[in-house]
Amino acid sequence: MTNRTFAIIKPDAVKNGDTGKIYDRILSAGFNVLSAKLIKLTLAQAEGFYAVHAERPFFGELTEFMSSGKCMVLALEKEDAVAEWRKTIGATNPVDADEGTIRKDFATSVGENAVHGSDSDENAAIEISYFFTGSELVQNR
Ligand code: ATP
Ligand code: MG
Repeated sequence: MTNRTFAIIKPDAVKNGDTGKIYDRILSAGFNVLSAKLIKLTLAQAEGFYAVHAERPFFGELTEFMSSGKCMVLALEKEDAVAEWRKTIGATNPVDADEGTIRKDFATSVGENAVHGSDSDENAAIEISYFFTGSELVQNR
């Protein structure tokens, strides 16, 4: 069965000029991109997106960073998409990320870690609908 996940190329990676290289990793890993767009989150959008972390000590830092510049949001499709994308991006903290993962190669710290990936099918659906309307998701290759 084909599944979906939601990805963000975060503001650090966009600022560093790594958007194209990371997009290429997405294609090389076999994901079908249903939709992608460059946006700049408002602080309120970032707070809504990461609401699950509202009580964490890094919430302010996280939401300010995520609204600090342009990012690219993407809806991705692949067999076992959530797990496959998390495998492709690597551990949250780049010092723990495996060789060849996106965070190993592009992230600079646990806070500025280049990319986001959904953690479940349920959250993938919620996150995709947070940024995309149904008609923006292009089903045919
Ligand atoms: P993401 O949800 O962005 O894909 P993740 O699922 O690997 O990352 P989470 O635990 O969901 O990790 O944390 C969400 C984000 O919060 C992390 O990607 C990172 O940017 C930030 N974060 C997590 N832990 C810390 C920390 N200890 N200090 C600063 N920022 C953190
Ligand atoms: Mg997470």
